[in-house]
Amino acid sequence: MCPAGGAEQSGRGYDPVKLAEGLRAVVCQGLRRKYYRFRGGRWYGGIATADCVGCNLRCVFCWGWPARDAPRETGRLYTPQEVFENLKRIAERRGYTQVRVSGNEPTLCWEHLLNVIELIEGANLKFILETNGILIGSNKGYARDLSKFSGVHVRVSIKGASPEEFHLLTGAKPEAFELQLKALENLLNYGVPAHPAVMLSFSEARNVEDLKSRLASIDESLVSEFEEEYVFLYPHVVKQLRKAGIWPRVAYYPDGIPEELI
Ligand code: SF4
Repeated sequence: MCPAGGAEQSGRGYDPVKLAEGLRAVVCQGLRRKYYRFRGGRWYGGIATADCVGCNLRCVFCWGWPARDAPRETGRLYTPQEVFENLKRIAERRGYTQVRVSGNEPTLCWEHLLNVIELIEGANLKFILETNGILIGSNKGYARDLSKFSGVHVRVSIKGASPEEFHLLTGAKPEAFELQLKALENLLNYGVPAHPAVMLSFSEARNVEDLKSRLASIDESLVSEFEEEYVFLYPHVVKQLRKAGIWPRVAYYPDGIPEELI
């Protein structure tokens, strides 16, 4: 596979906004979207999760890469109603109050996602939107759309602490790092609750300090709610890291994840 999994390369890396455009033809169809799994889990104190197919980044530490790199062959299309019913059933059975879409990038099929959130909100469940933020940063209309919901919290997962780290970890053009920060700015401007979760496994301390200063210049809450994210060394993740020739400074094996990261 080429680093961008078929994405057009120009300059230093692919453009993740363009990659998203190409992927939509594969993973979105009308209001339907491809998913490969529905599950419960211990994250956030217990949450029902729908794992979607397709992402516009190519992170070397991605645990969802089998679905990411084979979107045509993986999963099947689901309507928003089917996704909602699966999540609701898992949440009711396990006593959860929260649900999310994870696995790959939820924002690729935007109309589908808005329909899912609307159904979730009608059932009084809280929706956690886990996103790499690229598309919300490139189009503030996405943040505006989310502002009509009251039960949504957005976790913007930032890949590395600087444009260079972002490029090293994702293979995307370094400038696209800015879109992740822009996503947080857009969301806060529209009053949508959001916080950054930053992949720090590969980061230099001075880059982390610089990033925190940049976040503070957007809003102090982004520093007080700064979440540290680290690589979990699942066997298929280790395989990818070895292939890329990149090894984290800090990482955890799945049976040794600290309580505060769960
Ligand atoms: S943004 Fe998430 S799903 Fe996409 S490649 Fe990176 S880690 Fe994987």
